[in-house]
Amino acid sequence: MRIDKLFGQGEPVFSFEFFPPKTPEGEANLFQAVEELRALDPAYVSVTYGAGGGTRDKTLDIVTRIRRDYGLEAMAHFTCVGATERELRDTLDRFRDAGIENVLALRGDPPQGQDEWVRTEGGLEHSAELVALLAGGYPFAVAGACFPETHIHATSREDDLRHLKAKVDAGVQFLITQLFFDNGVYEDFVARAREIGIDVPIVPGIMPITNVAQIKRITELCGSGLPGHLLAQLEARAEDPGAVSDFGVAYATLQCAELLAMGAPGIHFYTLNRSPATRAILSALQLMRPWARAPRAALRRAAAPATS
Ligand code: FAD
Repeated sequence: MRIDKLFGQGEPVFSFEFFPPKTPEGEANLFQAVEELRALDPAYVSVTYGAGGGTRDKTLDIVTRIRRDYGLEAMAHFTCVGATERELRDTLDRFRDAGIENVLALRGDPPQGQDEWVRTEGGLEHSAELVALLAGGYPFAVAGACFPETHIHATSREDDLRHLKAKVDAGVQFLITQLFFDNGVYEDFVARAREIGIDVPIVPGIMPITNVAQIKRITELCGSGLPGHLLAQLEARAEDPGAVSDFGVAYATLQCAELLAMGAPGIHFYTLNRSPATRAILSALQLMRPWARAPRAALRRAAAPATS
């Protein structure tokens, strides 16, 4: 099933992101999370592509197993890191031959210990080139990444948006954002994207906070902001891991409800291969959704006299 066809059908598109684990124990945890989250009937799941060599083949393996054994649509992430164009094509041929229908096309980050992005000789420089390669010869629906708070290597906010427009023009059918915690940032980004002519769905990527040190590390690496009021609440609970998770779930639930009420086309959950937080948030959203999307109609219904 092509994921791009799911947008605009009147229902929010909910998806879960997983990463390929490095150990058998991690793999068991992953498939347990997939099993538990399957009950929530996500539109699809996605599997990241390892930055180093080790976990790369695992993306294809895990996507194949999720599709075959769990009956869920699964999208493969794919990066330009460390591969020539020929090698990129070889992997994409394998994706196609395995029946994969959806690919998230990324440049990828510089390998660990390297600050600057350097193109592999014979490889690609930017994700837009990968998108063009995909659009030119493969049957996949193509997704792309976007950065409401601007990509960390961008020369400017404006340049970043212009490059995003070029990527969409090359063949991206929907975008998934980097994680963010301030819905105003998403609202402003979508407005700027529409203004420049980017007209594909822009799905917010949301990470439930379950650990203070971890979220500080992640946001520092990816350049997303932790608003002061949020940080203060987290630090007040830093000694109590259960209270941090409870607060993280509550915050993300409110954040998602507001995003859906604002008209976001769905939510992409960064699950970190764990199910409880995402399960709690999406379960609440599924109850709230009619209220979030049509508050006036729902209020009218609630206020109407009961008919007998
Ligand atoms: P690009 O679109 O190529 O942009 C990278 C930088 O280059 C930006 O600063 C942009 O402004 C600039 N740029 C683009 N085009 C041009 C141009 N023509 N001239 C000059 N500058 C240009 N990483 C992984 O390794 N594996 C994953 O599975 C993975 N999944 C992700 C999923 C999501 C939803 C997101 C948001 C990120 C993910 N990442 C993943 C991280 C991503 O690979 C990095 O953030 C990477 O640094 C940027 O990738 P990109 O595809 O946005 O790159």
